[in-house]
Amino acid sequence: MEFIAETIADLSPSLTLSITSQAKQMREDGIDVCNLGAGEPDFDTPQHIKNAAIDALQDGQTKYTAVAGLKALREGIAKKFKDENQIDYASEEIVVNCGAKHSCFNAIMACCDAGDEVIIPSPYWTSYPEMVNAVGAKPVFVETKQENNWKITPEEFDNSMTGSTKMIIINSPNNPTGAVYSKEELAAIGEVAASEDILILSDEIYEKLVYGEAEHVSMASISEEIKRLTITINGFSKAYSMTGWRLGYTAANKEIAEAIDTIQSHSTSNPTTFAQYGAIAALSSDQSEISDMVEEYDIRRQYVLDRLNSIANVSTIEPAGAFYFLINIEKTGIKSVNFAEKLLSRMQVATVPGIAFGNDQSIRISYATSLPVIKEGLDRLEEFCRAH
Ligand SMILES: *Cc1c(COP(=O)(O)O)cnc(C)c1O
Repeated sequence: MEFIAETIADLSPSLTLSITSQAKQMREDGIDVCNLGAGEPDFDTPQHIKNAAIDALQDGQTKYTAVAGLKALREGIAKKFKDENQIDYASEEIVVNCGAKHSCFNAIMACCDAGDEVIIPSPYWTSYPEMVNAVGAKPVFVETKQENNWKITPEEFDNSMTGSTKMIIINSPNNPTGAVYSKEELAAIGEVAASEDILILSDEIYEKLVYGEAEHVSMASISEEIKRLTITINGFSKAYSMTGWRLGYTAANKEIAEAIDTIQSHSTSNPTTFAQYGAIAALSSDQSEISDMVEEYDIRRQYVLDRLNSIANVSTIEPAGAFYFLINIEKTGIKSVNFAEKLLSRMQVATVPGIAFGNDQSIRISYATSLPVIKEGLDRLEEFCRAH
């Protein structure tokens, strides 16, 4: 007898998490590791958000809430969508989940049957394909080009559609490339989706982390027709440095929101109650700590860009959002896992091999770490590249 279900047996564990834990282990063993592999902000959660959760705990907010989350939180999220994204979502169209990763999983499970195809522009966030596989649907990868800033074009999207296409996943600002889609680019993709009635999973978790001229636009804000097909995903992890709180949210038309509520009612139930009170505070209070973090990220981003541009045999695009650089290592002739492993064992620099994102000719570095660590890491990367 096989213990493990067929749909699950072939899934691979999250490679990004495994490298991070390897680097953590090396550090615990006293090795001086530069960790450029991080997938989470290096800032602490702002104090007033922590205080709100502490107060809620003291106040006895230790019981279940509604499956979809506290009414006040869903209303706060609806207000946020209206004020910041120009989207009218009723609070019944919003479900709070246990992290945006959970939001994505629920949405895919709610909408995709076995045999349905889900279009995933590649490089992609490492978890999307496995979520699609886990429900028996089929990921269809579309290779994007570095010269197009790693963005899928409407033509590429159109050409990848078949009679079985159910959904496309758009992640802007993007992990791992840092690309940010413009309003025009989103509108063109949305139109292709609308012409064939394809759902759009719009993962906007890095919304707040955009730099320079770039601007975040929500897919669902483009038109009513596109909104009807869009499942908007966002959360607290990246904007408010709340990764450990496990709070994300989904907004979609009522039919989809209800299906997600039903799934959640039989799996996790509501996200942690006192954490939700922290989230209410995050949305309703002064947002200046976010701009401070964004300013700091931007300084690091420009530093990394300058450095990478002067390192031989690597290339990159200027990322306009998130906190990553996808570095093209094709010229070194070394594949990504080999490259990342050598870089970790010989130079003690942790990165994530691009294969985790569907691109074996790249590595991802994160600048969600202090400037001195970034500088030292890039010194070592430069030395490594000089030797290869
Ligand atoms: C970090 C991340 C998420 C999920 O974050 P949670 O911690 O689960 O809220 C979702 N999508 C992308 C692209 C991410 O990088």
